[in-house]
Amino acid sequence: MKKSYLLTPGPTPLPPEVLDALSRPIIHHRTDVFRKIIAEAIENLKYILQTKNDVFILASSGTGAMEASVVNVLSSADYALTIEGGKFGQRWTEICKAYGINCDVLEVEWGKAVEPEVIQERLRKNPKIKAVFVTHCETSTGVVNDIEGIAEVVAKTDAVLIVDAISSLGAMPIKTDKWGIDIVVAGSQKGLMLPPGLAFVSVSKKALKMAQEAMSPNYYFSFKKAKKAFDSSDTPFTPAIPLVIALNEALNLLRSDGLDNLFAKYKKMACATRAAVFALGLKLLSPDAASDAVTAIKLPQNIDGAKLVKVMRTEHGVWVAGGQAELKGKIIRIAHMGYIKESDILIAISSLEKVLDSMGYKFQVGAGLKAAEDIFSK
Ligand SMILES: *Cc1c(COP(=O)(O)O)cnc(C)c1O
Repeated sequence: MKKSYLLTPGPTPLPPEVLDALSRPIIHHRTDVFRKIIAEAIENLKYILQTKNDVFILASSGTGAMEASVVNVLSSADYALTIEGGKFGQRWTEICKAYGINCDVLEVEWGKAVEPEVIQERLRKNPKIKAVFVTHCETSTGVVNDIEGIAEVVAKTDAVLIVDAISSLGAMPIKTDKWGIDIVVAGSQKGLMLPPGLAFVSVSKKALKMAQEAMSPNYYFSFKKAKKAFDSSDTPFTPAIPLVIALNEALNLLRSDGLDNLFAKYKKMACATRAAVFALGLKLLSPDAASDAVTAIKLPQNIDGAKLVKVMRTEHGVWVAGGQAELKGKIIRIAHMGYIKESDILIAISSLEKVLDSMGYKFQVGAGLKAAEDIFSK
């Protein structure tokens, strides 16, 4: 019999309150009871997104909300700037290209954050750019981008700013209105302690106006349809009823200590994970812009990352993620988002130490755990 510890950057574990909500009998959605639940969910989402903008709930994974942002705001042959510093930045380019949008691709070295000044320069060179697509936490590299700084430079132009916050929402502050983000995209299975299946999108007045004029083909993901329905606490299509009910449980839990305390907890878990990494003589993939939602750890050349991940899972029931694309086999990623607690981090570090030791890596056994515990006891 094995016990599992899920520390992957999506999906993430579910708290008992959420599991309980998911097991309730189905209710019908065209009812006052469900409209009240939708209204509460939207209010909760606005709180965590720190916005007064419209927020829509979609029945899809996070990528659905990414696609929705593209098709509602742009028409084919429009110009967009996409920031590629990892696999999820690349996804913005891929979606744009699928709809015939001209992408000005800004490539950033994987493991580095994008400099807002470089975005400013690109926008100056191409005033036709109508939208800037960026990733808040680039889950594939553990980088957090400076959205506030980016928003400042985009605000000097006519372009809209569209941010993928799929892995950061709930784990790190995203100040939609204060920073001035037109569209924020999020998903259910990362920081929000829910199963996969819901996506969220907050949309500014400016972006809604663009949605009135944009010509990209769309139907299921239409902001116009969503706006009409959500204005009366309704949904344009059958919503994922149990997930929406569970969403309120999850968001109420996240809200219960206040956002500042919530984010401080994840920051502490991130600091402890990083401290363990250094104590083990390892390095971060993104030391200058390390995200508080996921830590990407560079492995020594002679350690096979795929094997490390597999042995942690099979021997200790600890699920961490390996590297994707060009980082395959070279890194491991430990999430500290959603329903992940200090004890989970300690279990992950303990397992990492045991497996590194068994693979012949030389370090002082216990040093990582000690470093993490020192942070937690502060
Ligand atoms: C997980 C993730 C996605 C993809 O979300 P899906 O729910 O798998 O569609 C996109 N962007 C980021 C930053 C992610 O972490």
